[in-house]
Order: sequence, then C-alpha cells, then structure tokens
Amino acid sequence: MNTNEQPGAAVGGVLDRALAGISPSHEEAYALALTGGSGLSALFTTASQLRDRGWGDTVTYSRKVFIPLTNLCRDKCRYCTFAVSPSSPAARMLTPHEVLTIARAGAAAGCKEALFSLGEKPEEVYERSRTELRALGYSTTTEYLVAMCRLVFEETGLMPHANCGVLDPRELESLRPWNVSMGLMLENVSERLLGAGLAHAGSPGKAPALRLKTIEDAGRLGIPFTTGILIGIGETLQERIDSLFAIRDLQERSGNVQEVIVQNFRAKDDTPMRGDDEPSALEMARTIAIARLVLGASMSIQAPPNLSPDAYGFYLLAGINDWGGISPVTADHINPEAPWPKIEELREISADAGFTLRERLAIYPSYQRSAATLRPPFAARVAALADGTGYVRLDLQGIEGIIPPPRSRPASRPVRREGPAPLVLDDRYHDRSQNDIADISTQAGATGLANTQEARS
Ligand code: SF4
Repeated sequence: MNTNEQPGAAVGGVLDRALAGISPSHEEAYALALTGGSGLSALFTTASQLRDRGWGDTVTYSRKVFIPLTNLCRDKCRYCTFAVSPSSPAARMLTPHEVLTIARAGAAAGCKEALFSLGEKPEEVYERSRTELRALGYSTTTEYLVAMCRLVFEETGLMPHANCGVLDPRELESLRPWNVSMGLMLENVSERLLGAGLAHAGSPGKAPALRLKTIEDAGRLGIPFTTGILIGIGETLQERIDSLFAIRDLQERSGNVQEVIVQNFRAKDDTPMRGDDEPSALEMARTIAIARLVLGASMSIQAPPNLSPDAYGFYLLAGINDWGGISPVTADHINPEAPWPKIEELREISADAGFTLRERLAIYPSYQRSAATLRPPFAARVAALADGTGYVRLDLQGIEGIIPPPRSRPASRPVRREGPAPLVLDDRYHDRSQNDIADISTQAGATGLANTQEARS
C-alpha cells in the first residue's frame, strides 16, 4: 500500500472517534490489528496524539533495585527462565541479610524503588521452600515477603513494589502497609493458554480469572497496581486484543491500575519455548498503539527497553509514556540475557524523539493525590522525594539523590545462611561501584559482597 494514501474510511473513522474520546469496539480494535500502510501510520499518529494529551512530552522511568526473593515457583510457565527446580544449584531463598545488601546497594546508587520479584507460593509444592521458610521463622512466602518489604523500607527508605503472583485479600492486606504499589501481569486473558503444551500449562497461578480477581481485590484495598500483557506466547491476535479490553474493564471496576506494560516474549535457550518466534518491533509498536486507543490518554503505558534494544525508541512513536523500572545495580533477573540500557542512553534516545526523561516513583502522581492510595508511612517519603509534578525532584535524581531513610534504628542482625549468596549484580555496577557496595556491606556488618563475587565467578 502506498503510504501517501489516506487510511481507509473505516479505520479513519475509528481513529477520529478515538481522538474524540471514544475508544474502539472489540471489532474495530481487531481491524486495527490487521491494518497496514497508511492506516498503520495513522494509528501510530493517533496513539501519539493521545499520549501527548495525557503525558505531554515527558517520558518516565523508575530507578529501582531488583530483589529476587526466591526463584522457586509453584508454576511452570514454558517460557520462564527465572524459576528453577529445587534441586538446581541456582535455587535460592534470599536471607534478610542478602535482601538488605542488595537494597543498600540500590539506595547508594540513587534508587527509590525496591522491586521484589519472586516465584509464586513455592511452599505449596516444594519441601525445600517450606524448610527454608521455617528456618527463617515464617510459614509462607507471603509472610516472609511482608517482613522483607518492611525491613527494606525501614532500613533504606526504598519503597517496595512486590510482584509475587496471585494473592487472596488477606495476603494483600498484609502486604499493603509495606508496599507503595504492587504488580501482577495479566499476560493474557485466554484460559486456552493453560492447556497442555501451551505457554501456561502447569501454572495454576496463570488462570486469568485469579489474576484479575487479585488486582480487583487490591483495588478495594486502595493498592495501586501495575499489570500488562505479554505478547507472542501463542495467543491469537484476538486474544491479545481481548486482554487489553479485560484490563480496561478491570480498571473501570477497580480504579487501581496505574500502569499497563506491553511486553514482548523473548525466547530463552533453557526453556521449552526456545524455538518459538519472538514478536517483531513492528508488532510491539502496533500493540502499544492499540493499547493506547483502548486504554485512553491518561493510562500509563510502558514497554521495557531492554527487551527491544535496537528498536525501543520507536515505541515512543506508538504511544508509550514510560520505560518502566531501570536498575543501575541489578540485572533483569526475569530476562537475564537482556541488560538494562544505561540511563544516559535512555535520556538521549528519548530526547532524539522529542521527549524529556524524568525519574518517577513507584506510585504515579495521580495516585499520590489520594489518601486512599498513598498512606503512611509512604506519604512522608513521597513528599520528601517528589516535586509538584509528582515525579522525583530534579536535585534527587541519580546517585546524588541519596537522602536518609525515613527513620533511623539499629541495623537488624538477621540469621545468616551459610554458603554462597545467590546475588547477581549487573556487570557495569560491579565495575563502577564495587567500593560503594563494600562500604555498605561493611557498615552493615555484612559479607555479602564477597559472596556476590563468588556467585558471579
Ligand atoms: S509464575 Fe513467573 S516465576 Fe513462576 S514459572 Fe511463571 S513466569 Fe516463572
């Protein structure tokens, strides 16, 4: 199709209505998913215009440290390289000491968010997890997570954001006081993907109804939530679009979805889906643009830059406003083959496309304005870190941004597990800031750095 052509009347009408605030129907969104040529470029233009209305020329990221509390999981997603078998030498449950060592390294590098990412309820299926939890004094991973979120906030001032799978209301309530926000990817709304040989086979926690219910329950408790879709895991085009509508409907019911990630599947060599095709950058951009039309101008839409290292700047032209969490300290443990871009690179690529990069907190500005979603003890922390825009104060961005934790108390001396610590720090951080970690470790009476090096060598 000649790109100078006008988009077809049907597509043009959908885009005009989107600009007038009327989002597409399911059928119209399916049609957008198939459009090409001038219709596709018009889709990108419309999505960008909507993003500009909601977010202007600001694109954001959260400076975070990634804390993989445990890599055992009751689920068996066929694309996952994070979860391991309990007999694997890499299997781990971080001790409180290790958690604090990572968190302190993050705080020293100017992070504001502690992303706790972990396998889902491994104690339900693995004796090893039950034993490790008992040794630490807990009976469930969620109980331990609550304690670690509290420890990290009280000791470092980093604001926890836990991403730990499906939860019941009682568990959400226990996590709420120590999480400024939480996350759970819907991934896809299709039950079909739970079938034998498909992406979510053997993964009870990936039942879409359970995931939607978790986020909706969190909404009743006033917990801001991140969710999103994972594209390229064997879903049909319609199922992909249906998932965006499921998130829109969820937001209408619960009102706590503060951001939506559009994430591309990456084939990992050590997984059953290693031979599957990965979505192209164009497919990602098209999905992002449709997400913008379905979810509207004010929804934060994010795409992870490290999963499209050669193309991510393009996603700005399809309607994203956020790059997600970027760590100057730790690797992306979910996608260890995909290093984070340097924040300066992100700033330059954003500027090339006409955007200003700002650091944001793990709670978005609109959720900071309500006492129902920003409660003590985080309200004071956010007030100290954010300026009038709700983003991080310019003088606190980056490594210069270290400010004291909210209150000072003697460092706890948690149980120290013997054996190599399973920390994996990013190479760049290892080269640049080893002394910083050593200082922090020494102050804390820790030996975490030595163990980190051992684990990396
Ligand atoms: S739930 Fe998450 S950690 Fe567990 S197997 Fe699936 S992708 Fe991996």
